[in-house]
Amino acid sequence: MPVAISPANGHHVTLDDVKKHAILSDDHHFAPTRLICLENTLGGTVIPLKDCQEIAQWARAQSPPIAMHLDGARLWEAVVAGAGSLHDYCACFDSVTVCFSKGLGAPIGSIICSRAPFVNKARHLRKMMGGGLRQAGVITAAARVSVEETFVGGQLVATHTRAREVASMWEGKGGRLAQPTETNMVWLDLEDVNCSTEKLVAAGVKEGLKLLGGRIVVHYQVCDEAVEKLGRVMDAILPTQRRKVGGGGGEGGERWGEGESEGGWGGGDGVILCCSP
Ligand SMILES: *Cc1c(COP(=O)(O)O)cnc(C)c1O
Repeated sequence: MPVAISPANGHHVTLDDVKKHAILSDDHHFAPTRLICLENTLGGTVIPLKDCQEIAQWARAQSPPIAMHLDGARLWEAVVAGAGSLHDYCACFDSVTVCFSKGLGAPIGSIICSRAPFVNKARHLRKMMGGGLRQAGVITAAARVSVEETFVGGQLVATHTRAREVASMWEGKGGRLAQPTETNMVWLDLEDVNCSTEKLVAAGVKEGLKLLGGRIVVHYQVCDEAVEKLGRVMDAILPTQRRKVGGGGGEGGERWGEGESEGGWGGGDGVILCCSP
């Protein structure tokens, strides 16, 4: 029985939230908590290392200890944002998944990391479900490039600068953000400017941008031209009286290499900004 937790602070889950929802009694009418799953980053926002450490410490002190799992598909984003090292975050968990697609740009998807017995069990289950691979070097080569060039090489951190640029362009024009821009996601508060998703999408089509909603996800291929077009989309949807004069725009001439679009996972509200080749 999964129990979903909404953070009381409106930003990230803390130990207090976990304690409030964990089922520690052995009352057989309830499913005792055996596993805590966190997601970092979540909606582009970072769970601070300190909170992960506090939750892990508490979980491990329970009897029996509660296992910790991290959906770290975008953990890379928290790390390049300076929130903590991969090592320190992973030390809080018994198992961690990380994704080589998304912002990193390699095909295929995620790996699961844990101690050997856990990984062996996962391999067994994968084989049972027909997911085994042979000669996997072809795809691990792409994963290696994504780690070495996109993550370590600085392309990922550059997407955060780009996202902040988009966020301040929106705010500069009089828009509001629905959530803070901490990594590569910008959440335009469309409701605040009385703009429907359909209206945004239509304004995007006019500029040659494929937009799916107020969630703008920046990846390393997003170039100046795409940001300029997005600025014109913003002008088209913002009510004239709200609009401020000026307001951001692209700068710098870098053109980032080829990679994958940061697709919206789960929600249907991702945004793909494509550059001309
Ligand atoms: C993409 C994503 C997943 C799924 O990754 P797969 O590679 O398809 O297994 C899980 N969680 C989050 C938060 C994601 O963004």
